[in-house]
Amino acid sequence: MTLRIGAAPALTAIALAIAVYAVGFASSYDLRVLTVSGIYVILVLGYQFIFGHAGALSLAQGAFFGLGAYVTGILGSQFGWQFTATFPLSILVPALLAATLALPVLRLDSHYFALATLALGQGLLLIAVNWEGVTGGANGLPGVPGIVIFDIAVPRGLALLGFVWALAAAAAALAWWVMHGLYGLSFTVMRETPLAAGALGIDRAALRFVAFVLSAAYGGAAGALFVHTIGVISPEVLGFAIMVTCLTMTVAGGRTQIAGAVIGAVLLIHLPEWFRGLEQYYLIAVGAVLLLVVLFAPDGAAAFLARRPAKTQDRAPPGLKPFDLHPARTCGLEITGLTKNYGGIRALAGVDLAVAPGEIVGLIGPNGSGKTTLANLITGLDRPDGGRITLDGSDITSLTAHRIARRGVGRTFQTPQLAPSLRLVDAVAAAHAPNDDGGLAAARQDALAILSGFGLAGRADQLCRSQPHGVKRSVDLAAALARRPSVIVLDEPAAGLSADEAAALAGVLRAYAANGAAVLVIDHDMEFLLPLARRLICLDAGQIIAQGAPADVVGQPAVVAAYFGAGARPA
Ligand code: ATP
Repeated sequence: MTLRIGAAPALTAIALAIAVYAVGFASSYDLRVLTVSGIYVILVLGYQFIFGHAGALSLAQGAFFGLGAYVTGILGSQFGWQFTATFPLSILVPALLAATLALPVLRLDSHYFALATLALGQGLLLIAVNWEGVTGGANGLPGVPGIVIFDIAVPRGLALLGFVWALAAAAAALAWWVMHGLYGLSFTVMRETPLAAGALGIDRAALRFVAFVLSAAYGGAAGALFVHTIGVISPEVLGFAIMVTCLTMTVAGGRTQIAGAVIGAVLLIHLPEWFRGLEQYYLIAVGAVLLLVVLFAPDGAAAFLARRPAKTQDRAPPGLKPFDLHPARTCGLEITGLTKNYGGIRALAGVDLAVAPGEIVGLIGPNGSGKTTLANLITGLDRPDGGRITLDGSDITSLTAHRIARRGVGRTFQTPQLAPSLRLVDAVAAAHAPNDDGGLAAARQDALAILSGFGLAGRADQLCRSQPHGVKRSVDLAAALARRPSVIVLDEPAAGLSADEAAALAGVLRAYAANGAAVLVIDHDMEFLLPLARRLICLDAGQIIAQGAPADVVGQPAVVAAYFGAGARPA
């Protein structure tokens, strides 16, 4: 039997259970613990933006929480400011700090990013401890007032609990609104296949920026509510323990699901309470439960509860149907004097090349001759050391990958780049994310039409991760074509395909080129390339050694020598 609980019923059930418990059974201590759980829900919802959706291990969430707490704590206890002024400021100050830090910090990847964000918390902690006149130093400041809104007090207890959970619900609604459509899909693509994100026109830097600022805003809000609840401010709110708690809640509950934030926060805050009877051994029990959750629900409790029964495989795709996609506009690609060195390796040495609208050009060359480097430079994944790349005379040489994609250059990779957790239809629909004109429904409709052109409509709801290689290749190309690129660069598209699949792929490329696209196909498979390409270009050691009609090029001695060594003769 497969357990599957939808997110909305799960959230409603949790909310009802908490409400019944709070009103009917909870002591004032229990109410406070539940209030703190609600505050952590907001903190974790914020952390999900950067850690879950953007996939960046930020260790600054505790710092944003502490900063929000100090803003409210200082202004409330020292200046008597009310919630209506301090709460927005507690959100704004961490958000502004995140926006300021984003430029240097978000450029960093993986562990460097984690270390930089960790340093932020440590820096703020130092300031809090040493700036005694303002922060109260190591002792902090007592007397943070409760929440008062336009002179109406929200007393601690049931009223505060209701208020905090209402804000948590609003925070959850906002998180859902931000992430539910094409914008959310673009986060999944960025997180799971960063290479594909650029090629689909998705601006990674902008998404990470928004996620970081939102996480800071949510962190600040949670910190403000926390000091209102406990009534004092001290450097503990900037301690690393809060960051670790938030990270654990997010991993245990779920990184991207709203229900995950609720489950993680309520579970982690209540576990120590439930095991308090074990006295000094309670931490062992808490650790054991968390270990079980991580072992049996590695994607978090929410994903475990909502998991879908695995779909049975459809029959193999019957082959491609007649295909009628037109590029958004027609324009040609021109490359002059392109050079690229990697240390002492000359990957490209002054390559000149042009692909006209409606033309299919094949690019061949032995391993290491510079073919993928050329594709990477055209599509902005790497920067050339010299030379120029233009689209109908407009220079795109120094543009970033997502800008080049938005100008009309599409790309597929040697290994298909598909977000494993997306359904096929969404992997293709995500191509519409950068210019979200018709919303998710329209993007899915278009994706379905394209998938059915590939004979894959029957698999549209299956996950990318469970597809055979040939299907992944088709979906990768379908996603690239969904943007209707004027120029498309394909890196070994026939690799690993059966003869039938390769023939069907050739049919799609011919039809797309016939509609006005400029197509550059890199491949080693001559059976595939010779009948497909109008012109063939051969690279060796970063230089063009032959070009012209395909049959002529493959017979040229320089090409044969490049592939088989000097002295070899064409078969
Ligand atoms: P293949 O057919 O095996 O894919 P290729 O023709 O696509 O080969 P490239 O991958 O473009 O060749 O590599 C060209 C040269 O540049 C090789 O010598 C390769 O080792 C080197 N190279 C490519 N990318 C890098 C990189 N990021 N860092 C260092 N060297 C690189």
